[in-house]
Amino acid sequence: MGQSNLSIALKESWARRKALEKRVPVTFTDAELKKRLLAGIDVIGECWIWRGAKRNGGYGVIGILKNGKWYTQSTHRLAWKLFRGEKPSDLPFLLHKCPGGGNPACCNPLHLAWGTAKENTDDMMKAGHLGRSRHPESYEHLRCDGHWTRKKPSKVVRGSRINTSKLSENDVREIRRKYALKLANTVVLSKEYKITTVQVSKIIRGVNWSHIPFDPALPAMVIKPKRKSPIKRKAATS
Ligand SMILES: [Zn+2]
Repeated sequence: MGQSNLSIALKESWARRKALEKRVPVTFTDAELKKRLLAGIDVIGECWIWRGAKRNGGYGVIGILKNGKWYTQSTHRLAWKLFRGEKPSDLPFLLHKCPGGGNPACCNPLHLAWGTAKENTDDMMKAGHLGRSRHPESYEHLRCDGHWTRKKPSKVVRGSRINTSKLSENDVREIRRKYALKLANTVVLSKEYKITTVQVSKIIRGVNWSHIPFDPALPAMVIKPKRKSPIKRKAATS
């Protein structure tokens, strides 16, 4: 009778522990790495899904011993190294090309291909792996749908109901009307209503008093574009 697999594994781990105690550098052999990798894989369809630890983004990670030290490595990168060989020097990203859409936990070497940063981002966009789209449920609270200001907008104090407000709703309509019909500019309006030109501009653009709708009968207001800085103008002409 030969030795069972378990007793071989136990002997191996005992030898490794002794070696570590003596500070003899130990490195996993390729055969050991293959064994460890395949032991943590579930074959689902054509994909080899890593069921162990995963890092941000859903990529599998595995601990490997190298010269007596533990390192973590991405499982798909390790799979490439063990089954396909060296990585090409010019392409930095190892992409997942699974038939049913890339799965970051997949370690099937036939589903992997090296690519550029742009190809990597394109793939992630396609799979919806970028930013909020990946975990929309984690960002629901940012939409604030349950906030009382969303549920009862009529209860929000705005405009002339704010007791420090200098203007009334009618003043705002007048300011917009006068500006749209070119009866006054922002400086004139600011003096007339005793507010700053910045406030006038914000009212005209609908930044302030946004709850008061614009009168559709009035001509569309033309906001002057910002003047370019003299330096930029100089550069443009020369
Ligand atoms: Zn796959």
